[in-house]
Formats: sequence, C-alpha cells, structure tokens
Amino acid sequence: MNLNQANATGMTSPRTLQRLIDRLLDKGITDERVLRAMESIPRHLFVDASLKHLAYEDMSLPIGKRQTISQPFVVARMTQAVLEVPNVSSVLEIGTGSGYQAAILSRIIASVYSVERIHSLSWQARKQMRQLGIHNVKLKFGDGQEGWEEYAPFDVIMFTASARRVPTPLLEQLSDHGRIIMPRVSRTGQELVFMQRSEAGWKEEIVQPVVFVPVLTGTEY
Ligand code: SAH
Repeated sequence: MNLNQANATGMTSPRTLQRLIDRLLDKGITDERVLRAMESIPRHLFVDASLKHLAYEDMSLPIGKRQTISQPFVVARMTQAVLEVPNVSSVLEIGTGSGYQAAILSRIIASVYSVERIHSLSWQARKQMRQLGIHNVKLKFGDGQEGWEEYAPFDVIMFTASARRVPTPLLEQLSDHGRIIMPRVSRTGQELVFMQRSEAGWKEEIVQPVVFVPVLTGTEY
C-alpha cells in the first residue's frame, strides 16, 4: 500500500503521527515506552469516520453518547504516571469510552481492566480490541464506581471521567502501594491528581487543570 492509498483508507501519514509525537515530547512526555505506545496505536480507528482528519491533532474529540476520547497529551501524561509506580502490573480504568486509553496501556502493562457504563461504547471498544489483536485488556459493562472485585487489587486505578472523590469500593481494591490517577472536581473546575498510598498515609500531587466528562451513576444502553 502506498501513502495515497493509506490516506484514502483513512490511515494516517507517518508525518501527521510524527508531528503529534514531537508535540508530546515538547510538552514533557519523555518516557520512551509511552511514546512508542502512542506511535503504535492508530488513534483514527477510535473516532468516527467524519473526524479521522482530526485524529492526530492534540485535542479531545466526540465519540457519541455525549462522551469524548481524551486529548492525546493527557492520555500520555496519565500513562506516564502509571509507569512511575514501581513494578506496576495491573491497571483498572474507570470509563472505557472509545477504548483508546486502554489500548495504549495494553502496550505497556501486563493486565489492563476497564469498566464502562454505556453499553454501546463498551461493545464498540471490545470490537476494536479484537480488531487490533489486543488480548490483555478485559472490558466490563457496568458502573465503575463499584470497581472490579474479581481482579483486585490493582496497582493503579485510573479515572478517565471526573469525580469529587474516590468511591470506597475502589479504595478497597487498590494495592498497598498503589496509585489513583483522577480528574478531580474542585471548587474552581477540575484538576488532574495523582494519589499515592503508602504506610505513612496518602501523598497527593496536583498536576494540572483538565476537562473531563463526569462520572455518572448506573448504566445505560
Ligand atoms: N478513556 C476514554 C475516555 C472516555 S470519556 C477513551 O480513551 O476514549 C469517559 C467515559 O467514562 C465515558 O465513556 C463515560 O460513559 C464513562 N463513565 C462515566 N461514568 C462512569 C461510571 N460510573 N462507570 C464507568 N464508566 C463511566
């Protein structure tokens, strides 16, 4: 397949992708494993055909059902934060959405679990994982605020929807030295926070302002 054919089928040109990777580097994503994962997962496969030309811009995009696929920089930043946890081997994501974040994690982490409360999105993400031959991501349709007890504890629990606080079942499903990554609702908006559990208690790092769709309760079709 030559480059023109590749573009006609909606694939990206190496140049568009390289521009995105350069931008991530400029913005402080230095972990090679993250950059390689971002290079290897075609983001255009996770958005609607009509938005494919924007797939490698550093912006969030609608994925239907009033939800969005996160901005690539934020995906990269959150993934880099996962890798800061020593010996991390399992991650639980709350909010599968398009499945893009989970697919990126699958390239780096042994076991990825992700829960989504909207049935059609979960179904679509499952199809996408199969098409990409990704076998280390387990997807569940349900309310992620309950976690996924069967596979707990998790080294990292990552929210890709915003919330005021961490629901108790999730605190119980985090490993002893685990980390929670979440867009937290504050008085002034939302901020990305990393919360690290240790013997001495919780340590918190506020990273930057972000905009995510909210965590909602229950499920829908
Ligand atoms: N990680 C996604 C971004 C998803 S947007 C991606 O890479 O595309 C946030 C998602 O969180 C939405 O799909 C929304 O339906 C889901 N969500 C919101 N509240 C939830 C809950 N309680 N449990 C599970 N998923 C939830």
